[in-house]
Formats: sequence, structure tokens, C-alpha cells
Amino acid sequence: MIGFEAVPGSVPQAPADLLILPCYAGPDSRPEPGRGAAEAAGALGIDLVATLTAHGFAGQIGDTFATLSLGRLGAASVLFAGVGPREQAGPGAVRQAAMLAAAHLAGSVRVAVTLPDAIRPENDHQAAAAFAEGLLLGAYQYDRYRRDPVMPGWRRTALARVEVLTAGSDQAAVAGGLRRGERLAALTNWVRDLVNASPSDTTPDDLAAEARLLAGEHGLACSVLTVPELTAGGFGGILGVGQGSRNEPRLVELAYRGGGDGPVIGLTGKGITFDSGGLNLKRTSEIEWMKSDMAGAATIMAVLRGAAEFGLPVNIDAVLPFAENMPGGAAQRPGDVITHRGGKTSEIRDTDSEGRLIVADALAYLAERKPAVLVDVATLTDAAGLGEALWAVLGTDDQLISELVEAGREAGDPGWQLPLPLAYRRYLASAVADIRNTPSEGADTTVMAAMYLREFAGGVPWMHIDNGSTAYLERPGDGWPEGATGSPVRALLRWVERWAEQHPA
Ligand code: MN
Ligand code: MN
Repeated sequence: MIGFEAVPGSVPQAPADLLILPCYAGPDSRPEPGRGAAEAAGALGIDLVATLTAHGFAGQIGDTFATLSLGRLGAASVLFAGVGPREQAGPGAVRQAAMLAAAHLAGSVRVAVTLPDAIRPENDHQAAAAFAEGLLLGAYQYDRYRRDPVMPGWRRTALARVEVLTAGSDQAAVAGGLRRGERLAALTNWVRDLVNASPSDTTPDDLAAEARLLAGEHGLACSVLTVPELTAGGFGGILGVGQGSRNEPRLVELAYRGGGDGPVIGLTGKGITFDSGGLNLKRTSEIEWMKSDMAGAATIMAVLRGAAEFGLPVNIDAVLPFAENMPGGAAQRPGDVITHRGGKTSEIRDTDSEGRLIVADALAYLAERKPAVLVDVATLTDAAGLGEALWAVLGTDDQLISELVEAGREAGDPGWQLPLPLAYRRYLASAVADIRNTPSEGADTTVMAAMYLREFAGGVPWMHIDNGSTAYLERPGDGWPEGATGSPVRALLRWVERWAEQHPA
């Protein structure tokens, strides 16, 4: 556990293994000392701007310069970290700079830090939240299966305590912000843990057990449907996708009630615990990271956990379909026709377009209860090539979508809207069933997958988030290691918070 504290200490005397101090990007590519940086440089006896400039440090986000203090400071080492131009050094810059600074923690157990003052006085809370969130996202390690604390390219983090020196800021606001940032990072890192786990340890039954644990800890209602109940309930999509695996499918229902008699948000997420493609077996290297195909469902579990931890005044019904898409002897075939919850039929053209089949059942089931809004999160495609920094959102309500996009921007977990042109529905016309799961013409795209799901939202205002782009990184970048990112849990949680503000209980 890494603990954060807001303390009124002096920069030169702060006892720490590492002191982290911000610097802005000033004019003429010259750095400008941020809070405490000039004071520390004075104690070190260096000309800070000249030293940093000589080492190529201009104060941009990602610029860092570290030096030993040789007994001249209370801290053993000091790290100057760029946060970009002063006028832009808001929460987004602080979050990103903190995330990148985490790579320089090395063996530090105790860290002291000052936060940029550029966004004061109103935003000590936001700056502290962004800092704690960024540092914890950057310091994240997945060590469940590590047995050796030191391996080539890997060393277990030693960080235990982070003290934010609050001279010149509102200490209570900083302390509150640190708590918020810690929570947001913990939720995100919990999703990363679930997604990074070996898929042999995250079967549908394992994830149902995880949901039960979550429900028990946070007082959520929880029920789990197994195969006989799924059969009785007509969940042909979940059963069809799951029938090729010896790990049987499950449907988990979770409910959070913080909003009294107010409206209900319906949430679902794709929970394919491993996607081999089924009989349309994946032949590309993509199959190597298909444990990540349950990132949508994991995200929704974390949103419920977050709603409970923050005590949000909203009501949420979540329905999470879990299945493993395998090519066993009982696997569904291309050409099979399945009957979804609610009675619509789908012709399976491609068993690798399985996520939409289970999400369709979940959407239809949720829509029966007429929630105020329906949101699904699913790793269906590459989000139309938006790239690893952006998820895609499509749906039937542009106002809701613009609020979600804004929430993502605020949360540092951004997305982008794609269109849903109804004329393309004709490509999903089937010769034998109500709809086919992949288009008859053209590529199977993010838009076509959303077009398919739209059929099952029952006229309820609906948003579909395709996080196939952001949920899992095949290569490290921007402070993220290879693996799960937890996206879009921070965006969606921020959207739920905003929705609660607009719909007071
Ligand atoms: Mn697939
Ligand atoms: Mn899939």
C-alpha cells in the first residue's frame, strides 16, 4: 500500500528518499522553477535554469532531471519534473507529469513533492487528486504471478509513503484531493488487475465470484444466473457463445441504490473471458492478448464499486454477461441461428463477432426494465482506428454522448463520438433470421457492431462505448506498461457523477 499525506513541511528539510519538484516550460525553451524548486536549488548551490537547460530540460511534460543532494537537502535525491506551460498546468498536465515521474521512483520508499501552483487558488483539490491518480497509475505493477522481486527489466516497487508539502496551499483541500485521486487510481488499477490476470483464473465462474465479493463488501444486490437459468430465461446469445468452452457462461446482476426513488442507469459490459474466435479461430497475434476481452465487464464492476465508495446519489442496475469463446466440440457454428433474450433471432455468420451476441442479451434484458439510460462498454473492434488514446462512443442520444465525451476529457480518459448512419442497417439483413452478426457487404467495423447492438436497446436512450482501442496496450507508451489500462472506468464514473448532479434524487 502506498499512503499519501498532506503535510506542512519545508522543501529543503523534507526527509525523503526522493523529492519531486515541478518546473514549467517558460519562454525560449527555458524552464521556469515551480513551487519549491528555486528554494531547493539554492540549498543545492546550483543555478537551476542553467543546469536544467544544459541537460535538455525545457519544462515540458515528460522532461525530468534527477540529482543527488549530497546532504544539502533533507531528501537524498531530487527530481525536477516538467509540467508544461504555466497557464496550461491544470489537472491533465499534473496527472500526466506524475504518471511519467513514477518511472523515476527506483528504490524510493519515501517521496516528498510540491504541486504546481499555477491553477491555484481554486484548484488545490483538483491538482492533488490528479497528482495522486497519476503517480499511482504510473507506479502500478502487476505482480500476482511474480515470485522473484528482482528480474531482468522488473523490480518490485518499494514506494510506501508520499508527502505533499502544502506550504502556500489549502491543506484540507489537498488532503481531500489526495483521497479522491487514490480512489480513482485504485478503481482503475483494480480493472487492470482483473484484465491482466491469467484467463485461466478469470473464467466466467471466477468473475461471478469476484462480483459476489464486491457486492458483499459494498452492500450491493447480486445474483448469478447459471446455465439452467440462462436457458429458462432465453439468453441464447450468452449460451451460444459459451457452449464451446468447458467453463460455462454466467450472467451476473448487480444493483447499487444510492438515489432513492430516482431514475435508474442501466449498465452492461462485454465479459468474454477469453476470445479464441471460436470456430472462426483467430490466426493473428491478436489472440495472444484476448484475455482482455472482458475489460468492458470489469469496467462496469469498477463503476459500481466507485459509485458505492463515493456514495453517489444514483441508482444503477448492471447486467454482466460472462462467456469464454472457445472452439470445443459443442461450439456454435457459422450458420447457426440463435434466439436472444426477448425473442429476436441472430444468424451467426462469424463466431469471432461474439461480443455483440452476449451484450445483445444483456441490453435486451436491461431494456425490459425501462431504465432512464442504457450504457454498454465492449471491446468489440479497434474503435475505427481511433488509436490507443481514445475509446469510441456511438448511440441514440447526442446530448448524452457529448456529456460522456466531456466527462472523459475531464477524467483524463478521453473518447470520441462516431456516427451511426441508419442506412447501413440493410447490411445486417439476414436471409434466415432477424439480423446477422456481421455485415453482408463491406468490412465489419465499429459502426456496424454498434448498428447491430442498437436493435437490442428497446428504444431506451443508449450509448455504446467501444474500448477495443484503449483497454489493453500491446506496447508500452505514455507512462503505461504493456497490458491493461482500465479505460474507460474513470470516464464513465465521472459521467455517472455528472448525471447524478443533473438528476438529483
Ligand atoms: Mn471475437
Ligand atoms: Mn471478442
